[in-house]
Amino acid sequence: MINFKLPDEVLKVFNKLKKAGYEIYLVGGSVRNLLLGKKTTNWDFTTNATPHEILKIFKEGFYNNQFGTVGVPQKSGLIFEITTFRSEKGYTDKRHPDQIRWGKTLIEDLSRRDFTINALAFDGKQIIDPYQGQKDLQAKVIKTVGEPQARFNEDALRLLRAVRIAAELGFMIEEKTLAAIKKYRKNIHVISAERIREEIFKILASPYPADGFFLLRSTGLLKEILPELDACFGVAQKSPKRHHVYDVGTHLVMSLKFCKAKDPIVRLATLLHDVGKPKVVSKNQDNIITFYNHEIVGTKIVEEIAKKLKLAKKDSQKLITLVRWHQFSVDERQTDKALRRFIRRVGKENLEDMLALRIADRLGGGAKETSWRLELFKKRLQEVQKQPFTVADLKIDGYDVMKILNIKPGPRVGEILNHLFQKVEEGKLPNKREILLEEIKNISLKDN
Ligand code: ATP
Ligand code: MG
Repeated sequence: MINFKLPDEVLKVFNKLKKAGYEIYLVGGSVRNLLLGKKTTNWDFTTNATPHEILKIFKEGFYNNQFGTVGVPQKSGLIFEITTFRSEKGYTDKRHPDQIRWGKTLIEDLSRRDFTINALAFDGKQIIDPYQGQKDLQAKVIKTVGEPQARFNEDALRLLRAVRIAAELGFMIEEKTLAAIKKYRKNIHVISAERIREEIFKILASPYPADGFFLLRSTGLLKEILPELDACFGVAQKSPKRHHVYDVGTHLVMSLKFCKAKDPIVRLATLLHDVGKPKVVSKNQDNIITFYNHEIVGTKIVEEIAKKLKLAKKDSQKLITLVRWHQFSVDERQTDKALRRFIRRVGKENLEDMLALRIADRLGGGAKETSWRLELFKKRLQEVQKQPFTVADLKIDGYDVMKILNIKPGPRVGEILNHLFQKVEEGKLPNKREILLEEIKNISLKDN
């Protein structure tokens, strides 16, 4: 008997189904988390009750797909997923079972699950563990339930799930399981771009994203899903007078490792920022390796990757912007105007992330986190942002102009606003409402 402290909402599900005479178990990630002492938000249950029977007990439930899963919304806002025991037969498309049948027993249901650590169930008192999942959980290994080759060959999504779960938990992949992933890596092409993206994003967002990408690389999966990044491995950048200690691919993954941003898009941009380098690598007359324009070539490649992975438009734009401008200069001799141009290009909303990428880039190249130059640059970014950036940042607007000058909407209004903006930008006028209103009156005296 194990005394896990389960939320009341979970206990309620147990009680209701048991009272109605059914078997009910927690399965999947929640059992893993209970055993690891981690927090769970995703509670998955399995039962011998059919969806129809589950819905009779939970009137608020909804039957959401052909897989026999009933979603039951909770007061806490969580949605519990209750799935009828299943047994599956045949996977001719290497993704979906040809036949989904309700299983009769828990053991049958656990046997169709992918990894031993995912094939654990908890009935409220005991852990049911037919595949030694607890042992693997302790040893921190990912191992398939049953013969690895058969399991990966029947469902190619598991290839990426293995790497993703390893990155989420900081686990190793067991030897035979790893060999089977290598063997069946090309099957990943039967998986939709959306599902691949989802797994890549989960790896990026995980606590061990760099380990995840090194695993993708060593299994050969990287070459299948992100060949552009795979091509960066082995491209040397070590030259006399250069600080780089790694080849391009290793540098990119190390940058990801040090990326402080949590947003998977910023992490993806960090991982891909030098992806243009293999295409432009060259040597100058002093035998120094150069990568001229790699950020421009890299931007094109990243655009293609965004398309291929079907990123949302907003995500794709952010990714492209961060890669395009990652080579920004922090030279202290830059003018304020140059700094303002940089801010306008990157967008104020992306500045923090652009700096996070730069710091990750430095750390991932063996440099210190920051330098006096970078610190000065950051300070100056703050300073120049106190000035308005566009007409829209002025403390007055077109209505003020029209009212004071008693004119109708038209190009003249814009001209006057632009004129005022220029004066403010040049520092000839402060961005103060009272003063700008006075200035509009002066314009009227001068011009009319
Ligand atoms: P998380 O905490 O991320 O939800 P999870 O292990 O619960 O982790 P889910 O994707 O919710 O992951 O899947 C729930 C369970 O369903 C898994 O633990 C596993 O037992 C099983 N499962 C999911 N996908 C597959 C698959 N492709 N093949 C076999 N079993 C799978
Ligand atoms: Mg889950």
